[in-house]
This record gives sequence, C-alpha cells and structure tokens, in this order.
Amino acid sequence: MNRVILIKYGELTTKKGNRSFFVKTLKNNIEHKLMDFDISIVYDNSRMYIYFLDQDLEGIRNIISKVFGIHMYHIAYICDTNKDSIFATCLQVLRENIFCTFKVETKRSYKSFPYGSLDFSRMLGGYLLKNISNIRVDVHQPEVLVHVEIRDKNSFIYFNAYKGIGGYPVGTQPRALLMLSGGLDSPVAGYLSMKRGIKMDAVYFEAIPHTSLDARNKVIDLVKKLVAYTDCIHLHIVNFTPIQEEIYKTCDSHYVITIMRRMMYRIMEELCKKNKAYAIINGESIGQVASQTLISMHTINHVTSFPVIRPVACLDKLEIIDIAKKIDTYDISILPYEDCCTVFVPKHPVIHPSISYSVLMEEKFDYDRMIRDALSNVYTIKIKDDFSLNNEFKNLL
Ligand code: ATP
Ligand code: MG
Repeated sequence: MNRVILIKYGELTTKKGNRSFFVKTLKNNIEHKLMDFDISIVYDNSRMYIYFLDQDLEGIRNIISKVFGIHMYHIAYICDTNKDSIFATCLQVLRENIFCTFKVETKRSYKSFPYGSLDFSRMLGGYLLKNISNIRVDVHQPEVLVHVEIRDKNSFIYFNAYKGIGGYPVGTQPRALLMLSGGLDSPVAGYLSMKRGIKMDAVYFEAIPHTSLDARNKVIDLVKKLVAYTDCIHLHIVNFTPIQEEIYKTCDSHYVITIMRRMMYRIMEELCKKNKAYAIINGESIGQVASQTLISMHTINHVTSFPVIRPVACLDKLEIIDIAKKIDTYDISILPYEDCCTVFVPKHPVIHPSISYSVLMEEKFDYDRMIRDALSNVYTIKIKDDFSLNNEFKNLL
C-alpha cells in the first residue's frame, strides 16, 4: 500500500500573512536535506506531503527529525477519494494491528464529498466493527484513533503521530553570528537560535600558541554537529592573540576578562556588518561566571548597538547539558582543550565592572588598530551539511 509522510506545521500556522513564505522555506529545506532520496513534495498552507520509496522511510525520518518547522508528522496510507477505497484501506491496515478499542475521526477538506464528517466516521466505524472481531468503539480513550483526511483526489488514513522538533524553518530570519567557543553553552545557544529560524554562522576567537589546534578542531567538530540543522555554516576564525596579550600586559588584571569581551563584541559588530548579519548570539548564562553577572553584561554590552541574543541566559547548567546531549555536542564540548577565555582568566575577575574604568583602561592601547588587523586576517571555513569541503579545509589547517 502506498504511504506518504504527512507534515503538520504547528506554530507556523500562526504566521497569517507570511505563512506561504514560511511553508515555502520549509519545503525548500526539506527538499535540500532529502536530495539523495527519490521523493516528491506536495504542499499547501496547512499540510505537506512527502511521497517516498518504501525502503527509504527510516533514513528519511532520521533526517526530518532535525528539520526545524516540523511540529508533527504522520505516516499515512493513501487511497482514492471514494467510500469503497477508504473503507477497504482502513480495514486492511487495521487488520494488521492488535487492539481492542478504536475511534474514527474524519476531516473533510473536499467539500463535494457526498458524506459529512460525522456521518462518514459513524459509517466507517460500523463497517470496521462488522469486519474485525473483538473490537469496540471508545470515544474517550481509544487505543487506536483512526484519522481519515478526505481531500479531492486522494484521501489519507493514519493512526500514528510523531513529534518533530518544532520551531521555525531555518532561513525565515536573516543571518546572525554565533560566538562559538569550545564550551557547553555556545553550541546549545546556536541550536536554539536556529530553532527560531535564524540563518546562523559562527565566529571563533583563538589565541594560538596559548590555545592549541586541537581547540580549533573541537570548534569545527561542534559546527559539524550544528550544521545538521541547516544547510551550511561559515566559521570565521579570528586571531585574537595580539589583542589578548596586549590586554594582559596593560590592563588591571581584575578587568582582563571584561576588556577582552568588550573587544570580542566590537569585533563581532564589525563582522556582523561585513556579513550582513543582524545580531550577535552567544552562550552567556546569567550569573554563571564573573563576566555574566547582569552588571558585567551591561558593561560589556555597552560597546555595541547590535542586539545580543543569549538563548541560554535563563537556563540552569543542567538544562543546558540536557540539550547538549540531545544535539550530540556534549561529548565534544567536555574535551579538555583550553579556550582563550580560560587561558587568560585572572584569579579575581571583577564581578561588577564599571564602564568608565573599562574605558580608562582601553585608552592605554590602540585597540582600534588591533581590531582592524584582526579583521583583515579573519580566516573563514565553509562547512556544508554533507561535509563536502572537509578535505579542502583539512589541508589548510
Ligand atoms: P561555553 O559558554 O560555550 O560553555 P565557556 O563557558 O568556555 O564556553 P564563557 O566564558 O562562559 O565560555 O563565555 C561566554 C560566551 O562567550 C560563550 O558561550 C561564547 O558564546 C562566547 N565565547 C567565549 N569564548 C569564546 C571564543 N574563544 N570564541 C568565540 N566565542 C567565545
Ligand atoms: Mg559558559
């Protein structure tokens, strides 16, 4: 019997005027992800149908489990839109299952169908009772809820429901840049922002020789996990060593992290402008460390007018870890390579840094020039979801 994956959009359906843009983006994203499969997609503003070859079902389900914008899907049987065909298909499918109680629910978007939804449910229920032994109707808590969707040419029958990952399709929001360190928080922040439809690229500040190539490779491995949720991620690598060494040399040691992060934000803003990105995303979580108290955030944030999105700001570490495990970044994040923030961390970082004192210290060195230098040496790796550029960039490392 022919089957189809029937997708329901959920949250997308609240996007009244924009709905067709959201749905079209979702369709393109699914089509891109399934380009190695022999499929076809038909859709309207309430449903999407993926026609597939039987042997590909599990592979396709694996892939669409990582596509944002899919709220719920069903594996539905297809039949012609006429009473006999629907009855026969239902009977055949249900006979393959063991159950005691059931209920039929009919949804009729084909208004010329000669029966009303309630009448049709009743007729079909009666037919099933007559032809399958030892079953009965339970309208409150049926073991099997048989859904029949009647449309003009074909009708669809299903009694299973699978949860998608929800969110909005990637690309329904413009680009933003994620500050990606090798830690636990920033990959989760990246995942959550893509879930809102953001087209995301990433920026990694490295401080070779204080940090190692292993640390860089760890970040690349994290991008490879995140790219499963989109089509491609550019990873911009900034050589942060000269700025960091200068800060360490000239600034009050309590303020080293504050100044360092103000420099990162300044660079992020320039990279956003250059790459047509509209926001900075990072993995800051309120109160986690000295640089993430609200007063620290305020002082650090002061150097940019770009929105800074902090998807994990209000999550506990354990909640962040749960998501990291779900998206498979946890095992990479806990690898022990030093990050530039950890190499240079002072014994007693200031918890309530002031803006005026930060500015005073920044006057001690020509950071504008150093930022320009850093920006002119950014090295970008394009990581696609099929890793097709792997070898090319591996040779460059
Ligand atoms: P994570 O927060 O990702 O677990 P972390 O705890 O080592 O890493 P923090 O010191 O908490 O990092 O920094 C807060 C945020 O600043 C990070 O989540 C990340 O978004 C950004 N960040 C820190 N270091 C870097 C870096 N070397 N390159 C890019 N972004 C960084
Ligand atoms: Mg952190």
